[in-house]
Amino acid sequence: MANETTAKEKPRAEQRGKSARLRATVAILAFVAMGVGLAIHSGTGTISSFGWDYIATVCPLGALESIFGSWAFVPRLVIALIAMLAVVWVAGKGFCGWICPIPYVGKLFRTKKSSAREANERHAAAKLSYERWKNNDAPQRKKLNLDSRHGVLLGALASTAIFGFPVFCLVCPVGLSVATFVLFWRMVQYNEVTFCLLLFPAIIILEVVVLGKWCGRFCPLGALFSLIGSTNRTFRPTVDHDACLRDTKGEACKACASACPEHIDPFSDMGERPMTECVKCRSCADACPASAITLPFLPAKRASSENPAPPTPEMPS
Ligand code: SF4
Ligand code: SF4
Repeated sequence: MANETTAKEKPRAEQRGKSARLRATVAILAFVAMGVGLAIHSGTGTISSFGWDYIATVCPLGALESIFGSWAFVPRLVIALIAMLAVVWVAGKGFCGWICPIPYVGKLFRTKKSSAREANERHAAAKLSYERWKNNDAPQRKKLNLDSRHGVLLGALASTAIFGFPVFCLVCPVGLSVATFVLFWRMVQYNEVTFCLLLFPAIIILEVVVLGKWCGRFCPLGALFSLIGSTNRTFRPTVDHDACLRDTKGEACKACASACPEHIDPFSDMGERPMTECVKCRSCADACPASAITLPFLPAKRASSENPAPPTPEMPS
């Protein structure tokens, strides 16, 4: 039995490593493409708008701030914004799980203690969700799941409207990460040294490490993604209830919820946070001992969160 478990655990651990490496590779490639494009001026725009010739991708928050700041209707900006919002609608919060550099900045400063604390929080959230499911006590969820990040989002837009320029962009850790890359590039290439080389990383560290939990508490970009992606159904973790150990064997399995960095329970969607916060990272699918979770492009007919298996009274805790 012990050997059986070890034999099952090994491929899952390998898969976890593969998914994490793939995510890191995508994030690095995207970051370098943005930074190099800006550094050698091959693209157009600013830190929050980059691209090639007439094709530009914009940061949806940066574009919204620009519109709020100038109160001007710039057709090209509005078209780019609508295109980006459509991408977010399809991909949900996939940017947070696959492209954003900020989680990696957090990892650079992670200690054994903070890793253990994070793991404990994930396990506690998984336990809470399991208890809710077992007691058939689904949390009351509002249609729009608003929290402190949405307050920051509102503040970012309001301050832009008042001061006439995108105030939040000055302290956005995503933009500052790319800007730091560009400044390093310019230092190496043109010998340009500026105090911003110290200031920008200091602001990023203050926000991500000192304040802590930037993504979950403060990030207005994540707040915007979760609002737009609230009806997102693509690449959504979907449980095959004919394979799931909870359903088929009555086991008190919480592996998927315990692996979720967003404290979501893909099995029942009764976790601390709702499925709209899913960053499509695949950690739950990689952790599932029954390989029962997939992230299909199109929604399956019977999605876990919409149709969780009913708990049985004798279910263990
Ligand atoms: S539900 Fe799965 S894919 Fe979504 S954030 Fe959690 S672990 Fe990642
Ligand atoms: S990890 Fe897999 S087997 Fe366990 S509850 Fe989640 S879906 Fe079911």
